[in-house]
Amino acid sequence: MKAALFTGPEEIVVREVPDPPLPPDGLILQVMACGVCGSDLRRWRQGPLPGAEGQIPGHEVSGVVMAVGEALRGRYREGDRLALAPDVHCGHCYYCRRGWYNLCDDLRIVGITPGYAGGFAERMAITGEILQNGIVHPLPEGLSFVAGALAEPLPSVLAAHQMAQTSLGDRVVVIGAGPIGCLHIAVAKRRGARVLVAQRSAPRRALAARFGPEVIVDPTEHDLVEAVLDWTGGLGADIAICANPVAATQEQAVRLVRKRGQVILFGGLPRSAPMTTLDGNRIHYGEIRLFGVFSYHPSMHELALQMMAEGLVAPEHIVTHTFTLEETPLAFRTAAQGESLKVMVTPSAL
Ligand SMILES: [Zn+2]
Ligand SMILES: [Zn+2]
Repeated sequence: MKAALFTGPEEIVVREVPDPPLPPDGLILQVMACGVCGSDLRRWRQGPLPGAEGQIPGHEVSGVVMAVGEALRGRYREGDRLALAPDVHCGHCYYCRRGWYNLCDDLRIVGITPGYAGGFAERMAITGEILQNGIVHPLPEGLSFVAGALAEPLPSVLAAHQMAQTSLGDRVVVIGAGPIGCLHIAVAKRRGARVLVAQRSAPRRALAARFGPEVIVDPTEHDLVEAVLDWTGGLGADIAICANPVAATQEQAVRLVRKRGQVILFGGLPRSAPMTTLDGNRIHYGEIRLFGVFSYHPSMHELALQMMAEGLVAPEHIVTHTFTLEETPLAFRTAAQGESLKVMVTPSAL
């Protein structure tokens, strides 16, 4: 079969590789759609992990079951439509024993961990381990494969708003209008909030407008904290979400929420520069609640698929580019340019 492989920094090549064997307790999936994720881009820029040269990336996957392992007869059938998300937890660490699977100490990531081939390929094996400890759900009837693959970046956004209890009338500030920031706009609005979004790049501000924020701020033109205070009559926002990898905006987020407001650190910072500076007195005297969100419980993926089926976001609003498997190198370069939102690869004709 054909697959795209990481071969070096900023290097991904499409070539012929052996078909994955059918696991006796697993499935072979014909990949129909696979999204390019920010984490794929990070790995592409840095090159494969040691020991993972030739790794097939891709973890925002949807497809059709082509073959069913002996042990799964009756549970799955050829033709079943499935969506897959990347996390595979160990099942026995401190966190797994409490059901906090996304925080597993030994998390394996499909498309990244050596031995866990991803979805930029014509076919991929879904092993028994992935079915047991990973995240695989059926596509709701009528949901497109592209929408099914889009259900992967959505669950962590849903989890963030569940933790923050985003509610009717809340003023929510989303900093960063990449694909994740745009999903935050959509989810916050669905929960009844009003949204201000901040984004430096003009093309991305135009794309973000499709999700219906009340205010779009260019922080290179206007001071973000002042813009939020203006918007809220001097009070400050209820919730600020840092959906970007910039430490300075975390500092702003603490300054632009009201007392007892919430700040969500959603985007990771660069590994080489993870430190951030926050006004401790503002957090203390203002009783500001600040927390991180990373990945999600598997059940949130099921909810994301359901919400996609209910039309929470129009796939065409978020998918700005679609490429064939052969065009995967171009898909990565396009995603890296930052004028796109979600870039999708469709290895089989839809
Ligand atoms: Zn992803
Ligand atoms: Zn674990």
